[in-house]
Amino acid sequence: MSSNRIVLIGYRGTGKTTIGKKLADLLDLQFFDTDAEIETKTGCSIPEIFSQWGEDEFRDIERDVISSIPPSASIVSTGGGAVLNPDNRLDLRRKSTIFWLDADVDTIYQRIVTSNRPPLTTLPLSSEISDILSLRTPLYRSLADYRIDNTTMSVDSCIEEIAYLYATGGDVISIRENWIFDNPLPVSCYPDAMRNCIASIDNPRMRLFGIVGYPCGHSRSPLVWNRFFKKFGMDNALYTWFEVKTVEPLLKNAIQAGIKGLSVTIPHKESVIPLIDEVKHDARTIGAVNTILFQGGRSFGFNTDWLGIYRPLEGYPGGSACVIGAGGAASAAIYALLMRGYGVTILNRTPQKAKNLATRFGCRYGSLDQGDIGSYDLVLNATPVGMHPDTSMPVDPSFLHKGMIVFDLVYTPPKTPLIRAADKIGCITIEGTEMFIHQLTEQFSLLTGLKVSPDMVREVLA
Ligand code: NAP
Repeated sequence: MSSNRIVLIGYRGTGKTTIGKKLADLLDLQFFDTDAEIETKTGCSIPEIFSQWGEDEFRDIERDVISSIPPSASIVSTGGGAVLNPDNRLDLRRKSTIFWLDADVDTIYQRIVTSNRPPLTTLPLSSEISDILSLRTPLYRSLADYRIDNTTMSVDSCIEEIAYLYATGGDVISIRENWIFDNPLPVSCYPDAMRNCIASIDNPRMRLFGIVGYPCGHSRSPLVWNRFFKKFGMDNALYTWFEVKTVEPLLKNAIQAGIKGLSVTIPHKESVIPLIDEVKHDARTIGAVNTILFQGGRSFGFNTDWLGIYRPLEGYPGGSACVIGAGGAASAAIYALLMRGYGVTILNRTPQKAKNLATRFGCRYGSLDQGDIGSYDLVLNATPVGMHPDTSMPVDPSFLHKGMIVFDLVYTPPKTPLIRAADKIGCITIEGTEMFIHQLTEQFSLLTGLKVSPDMVREVLA
């Protein structure tokens, strides 16, 4: 593996420059400090740049500097706000192991209170640190391979910890051997990818990502993710399959096994919730987690399924919507439709389940045979009806009308019988692949800090 560069990210006062310099001496590597490079390039101090040209100009110069640092063996210390620019994140990620240096607000305050750097807000310093830190923390958390909280650590122990993790990847292999290798990976339809996965898991510096479900061996997600890792020079990252019937052992061992992130699929989206340290509000409301990030010894649960439905509906007027089905996907769909301002009715084969969901979200419900489907502006299928090899439709197509939006969450085949019938009638159709694509772009960003566009995912899937 050729991830030879060490990148230090984190707020001001977390020791990036001091630690970076000493680490460079210890490892005999070149040292780049982006703030120092900016000062050399402009001939001005950082306070002068801020007072004369303002923060925007500073960020532009910082962008130029970061793009010019080679991704070769070196230590790079970055300014606290460098991660705000998505292009900076891409450049910093390339062929790098990223360490997030962190400390609590009081400690940061004590370390920077006497500095001559200009404030970024009009708030008192401790409130500024607290506010900006809470905005940047999700980015640091997603982008970094490792978090080092040096609130109570000396500079030397911090350097020791970074050097140890950089050289060895930590003691992850015993856990991987004890746990992962005892749980055979699925017999996949992608044998080459599987061989690479097994070889890479054996490398302790490899940060692992994966899809956890049962079954999930058919999933093409590893192909998409590993293609992006290659494109972005993330040669210390691997996405694989974790096909497990019960999810507890994986989640309990994930941090020690060096797992950075998981995509969660059927049947584990609900059962993982009590096993996660922090579950975001939207995921709690939906009652399902499909994305888990591990960082700094803690786990964070998200739901990106609803965004996979919300985003493709951008630009369409709201109105009345009917969701067919009352399972996990329906729950995400209802949340997305309510966020888009639709009035939602849930129709389900088992009306009691529709009622339960309707009570939770405060919307209407009914049974499928009540179907006055034609009166809705949008119909969304959240059942497996129409999934290959099934060729049936969840609703009678004679109820559909021109101009109605028909969103089918089923994506095998991409053109389901419902989508084909709706196309013929002149409905606005949205295929299930769109949900997959949009939820994946969001998930990729949460687990890596990097942005991919829906078109980039479409290209890989084609
Ligand atoms: P789920 O929790 O098992 O719920 C399935 C729902 O479909 C239940 O309400 C069930 O009704 C209903 N149903 C099942 N078979 C039916 C039939 N023959 N006729 C009428 N209703 C039927 O599954 P889920 O997680 O919500 O997923 C549902 C579908 O969404 C999946 O099959 C998948 O195709 C799709 N999905 C797509 C994406 C994507 O990225 N595009 C992501 C997630 C899911 P009862 O309550 O009566 O059992």
